[in-house]
Amino acid sequence: MSVARTPCYIGIGANLGDARDTVTQAIALIGKLPQTQLAATSSLFSTAPVDAGGDDYVNAVVKIDTRLQPIELLQALQALEQDFGRQRPYRNAPRTLDLDILLYGDKVITQDSLEIPHPRMTQRAFVLIPLLEIDPFITIPKQGPAHNFVPAVAGQAIRKI
Ligand code: ADP
Ligand code: MG
Repeated sequence: MSVARTPCYIGIGANLGDARDTVTQAIALIGKLPQTQLAATSSLFSTAPVDAGGDDYVNAVVKIDTRLQPIELLQALQALEQDFGRQRPYRNAPRTLDLDILLYGDKVITQDSLEIPHPRMTQRAFVLIPLLEIDPFITIPKQGPAHNFVPAVAGQAIRKI
């Protein structure tokens, strides 16, 4: 059993119902997960859907320090998604709440059910911009400084709300 807490970054997105309220509530609930402390919260951002239809998204990133193992953290986040009534009728469907583990310390995990760093995080302004707001010097294992990926997503509309 590891006693040390691991710094992790969680990407939060919602675009159904009162998305802003959902994201705000989700942040508070993440902070109440067992063996977990909220360390930092980004601003909330509004973004147009990527590869998907529907309303604009509300996105944020939080940093936590947790003793939960990666799979335990994934399960806890999926339980939160379920609490918000998320359904998965098809890929990239609009969702009440999407919670992704972006980084778990400097761990690299390549399983079907869990890939860390999150495989699409460097392609998404709605992840990179809030992440860099929290930690401008964050590096992604095996990929280098997160800010290096910003120019490539400069065309994606994102606005602080
Ligand atoms: P996306 O977040 O890519 O839009 P989904 O949330 O529907 O898509 O994907 C959910 C699936 O992704 C889950 O079954 C989960 O096991 C898997 N998954 C793989 N890596 C991660 C990760 N780093 N964070 C969250 N879910 C992940
Ligand atoms: Mg997800």
